[in-house]
Amino acid sequence: MQTQECQARDRAHHLHPFTDFKALGEEGSRVITRAEGVYIHDSRGHRILDGMAGLWCVNLGYGRQELVEAAREQLEQLPYYNTFFKTTHPPAVRLAEKLCELAPAHMNHVFFTGSGSEANDTVLRMVRRYWALQGKPGKRWIIGRENGYHGSTVAGMSLGGMAPMHDQGGPCVPEIAHIRQPYWFGEGRDQSPEAFGRACAEALEAKILELGEENVAAFIAEPVQGAGGAIMPPASYWPAIKAVLAKHDILLVADEVICGFGRLGEWFGSQHFGLEPDLMPIAKGLSSGYLPIGGVLVGDRVADTLIEEGGEFFHGFTYSGHPACAAVALKNLELLEAEGVVERVRDDVGPYLARRWAELADHPLVGEARSLGLMGALELVADKATGSRFDKSLAAGNLCRDICFDAGLVMRSVGDTMIIAPPLVITRQEIDELVRLARRALDETAVRLAKHAATDAAQREEIRA
Ligand SMILES: *Cc1c(COP(=O)(O)O)cnc(C)c1O
Repeated sequence: MQTQECQARDRAHHLHPFTDFKALGEEGSRVITRAEGVYIHDSRGHRILDGMAGLWCVNLGYGRQELVEAAREQLEQLPYYNTFFKTTHPPAVRLAEKLCELAPAHMNHVFFTGSGSEANDTVLRMVRRYWALQGKPGKRWIIGRENGYHGSTVAGMSLGGMAPMHDQGGPCVPEIAHIRQPYWFGEGRDQSPEAFGRACAEALEAKILELGEENVAAFIAEPVQGAGGAIMPPASYWPAIKAVLAKHDILLVADEVICGFGRLGEWFGSQHFGLEPDLMPIAKGLSSGYLPIGGVLVGDRVADTLIEEGGEFFHGFTYSGHPACAAVALKNLELLEAEGVVERVRDDVGPYLARRWAELADHPLVGEARSLGLMGALELVADKATGSRFDKSLAAGNLCRDICFDAGLVMRSVGDTMIIAPPLVITRQEIDELVRLARRALDETAVRLAKHAATDAAQREEIRA
């Protein structure tokens, strides 16, 4: 299919996720045709370094024949069977076992879903059910965070704190509240990071007291916010949050959909921050994105109650534990383990990226450069000294993102925050290339923004004259 033909046919029939349909139709989609390692290729023959690992998921990189083979073998052996009605199959059994081996010691069960959103729907029902079985049916409120992301189903978007999502197709699921996010650069610079981290935990306690401890079931948060802008909380944040939750006997749900499977240099982000969550939704890197699969890892406290006291749990999906998806996920975990990928992120490429990424902080457009493991962010600012932002109408982040793509790098924009999360198999040389391309794109963005400002000034001058 030629590029233009593909775009026309795409425009005619395909409604894309998180997309202004009309604007994309006018512009035309970029057509991605193949990929290898950390590179994707488009239909015009451009090779592009995928700084986002697809959507934070292609942890092992593209073109892994072992994963293709695992899917093929399983599709031949048993392409589909469900796990409802007292049946199971070897791939689901093996994957459940492997996940519980890798998870923190107190997590010994998993509920499979088809995606991260479905995992969070499962979380919502599971925590409320847990407390009902505990004889505390009033504990129904779930506290999430502003600008958190937990998926796009009705429960997922309600747990998440993305206001534009709440405004479309609501109302949201009732009895969900949100507290402020630990986003120091965006919201806390009048305090030290440490004081700000503690203030965010105080907001959690205040919300619990406002709702009544006897009405609060769980707190849900990503260890590091991903879609919200790769937001690493201050060091004081998680210890203070943990203390508040323990004091009020409230479950912790650590949404590991992005942080899980090596992104932060541990198998789970919870291990990096020393969290002991009761539930961990997972997806994305679980299969390196080769096939769709998600799940919820369930800690003993909740699992024991559901098993011993629960009777039938009226919940599940046609594709819960899908054999081919499970086989690919299992092979993915085996490869991550055999190749020492997680340790490499922690001890080698993570620290290397941290060093190289930090160099970008000297760029005139960059107010902060931060990273953890293989996740990084750049805050674009109009004035480096004060950290003030560009006028929203300039859409500086989107401009930089488009320039990046043309320069051969996928870097995503969240407002004026530029983010990266490359495949975990990226090499030091490829990190050098990523940083070089990012700097070139920043230079070009600065030039274009300056030109824009100059035209603007000239126009205003003209109007005055
Ligand atoms: C992507 C994401 C989800 C949703 O996963 P889907 O597979 O897109 O449904 C949930 N939580 C977090 C933290 C995510 O990044």
